[in-house]
Amino acid sequence: MYALQQKILSEGIVLSEQVLKVDAFLNHQIDPELMRQIGVEFAERFKDAGITKIITIEASGIAPAVMTGLVLGVPVIFARKYQSLTLKDDLYRSKVFSFTKQTESTIAISNKYLHSEDKVLIIDDFLANGHAALALVDLISQANATVCGIGIVIEKSFQTGRKLLDEKGFKVESLARVKSLTDGQVSFVES
Ligand code: 5GP
Repeated sequence: MYALQQKILSEGIVLSEQVLKVDAFLNHQIDPELMRQIGVEFAERFKDAGITKIITIEASGIAPAVMTGLVLGVPVIFARKYQSLTLKDDLYRSKVFSFTKQTESTIAISNKYLHSEDKVLIIDDFLANGHAALALVDLISQANATVCGIGIVIEKSFQTGRKLLDEKGFKVESLARVKSLTDGQVSFVES
């Protein structure tokens, strides 16, 4: 997606060879017009999948997920993060290792909002090693619902997540695919 790539080039900050900071438009300050375009793009790519619900993780997945939900006309659920979680029967829970914080936490969603007949689109801001996406897949499986696709705003293609999700047979659509972050420069996979 051209507008997203341009935004990454002009406002993204390469923190290291592994981490890209996009606080200027996605992870802290949010660019609503860019989020709208992202929603339109995801909706176009998944329009034939019969999606009934979108699932993301708080906080940075919420903006692109809501915009996609608006265009597809479906509700959006965000999994909540807990450091420790008192056991409750009405939650689906999964453990996720955070790439940015390098800690494990539990994410959960209420079983009220996800049902076996749901066809779910997962949306997240970044794909690195795939832990967040697979934890969401786990929550969806606990509800016996179906994962119909995974939409990623920024995929770092040099990390392991994309290969892992491809191998598991998921349809993954990434709007920007970063090939490398070497020498402080962002380069993209040719499309
Ligand atoms: P994964 O679970 O695929 O290893 O990492 C994805 C999650 O880690 C995303 O939800 C995102 O919040 C965070 N993340 C991974 N890589 C980056 C990065 O380069 N920059 C930022 N800002 N977040 C990242």
